[in-house]
Amino acid sequence: MTAYAELCEQITACQLCPELVSGRHLVVPGEGPEDAEIMFIGEAPGFHEDQQGRPFVGAAGGFLTELIQSTNLSREQVYIANVIKCRPPNNRDPLPEEIEHCNQWLERQIEIVRPSLIVTLGRFSLARFFPGSTISRVHGTSYQRDGITYFAMYHPAAALHQHSLKQTLLADMAKIPGLLGGPAATAAADSMQAPATPAVAVPEKGEEGPQQLSLF
Ligand code: URA
Repeated sequence: MTAYAELCEQITACQLCPELVSGRHLVVPGEGPEDAEIMFIGEAPGFHEDQQGRPFVGAAGGFLTELIQSTNLSREQVYIANVIKCRPPNNRDPLPEEIEHCNQWLERQIEIVRPSLIVTLGRFSLARFFPGSTISRVHGTSYQRDGITYFAMYHPAAALHQHSLKQTLLADMAKIPGLLGGPAATAAADSMQAPATPAVAVPEKGEEGPQQLSLF
């Protein structure tokens, strides 16, 4: 069995969060090539993901697939994961201890897949990799650490609620090919200073201002 297959088995057998274990139908470890160059990281499975055991298969997933295709990539070429692997009841926000428990799985996924680019989708993923940042300020920007480029984007579901964000997401996604081209291309893209060493962080409530929905 490969290290990746073994990891997926461990994730699907995880019992660390009693409330999530009792409410889940299927665990959603993530999917994509084990050697993908790009890893997208969302928040948590929703209803459809929990039913199918696959990430981003609902309405937000449809838009994520469109966004990926807009860069001439296909969904099958990228790895898609979430900060937490089980659906929170009623799609509530993940709790800090749930994020903490699941962090080991995400870290192992990154170690095994070794993507050169990690794209954060939404505020929980942002909090993990851009601690202390607000998405309205850092979306569309990147930094590099230890050979990985980190790039922040709004969650695709945000555009389903706030249509003006669709163009923002498309414009940010259009920067991705430039981030894959090595140091020169990366320098040409909007870059920011690397934040302090990422810790397991949760976003602050209401950080996006009054019209930003809490999910994003
Ligand atoms: N939203 C997420 O953040 N992840 C999914 O897998 C689906 C919707």
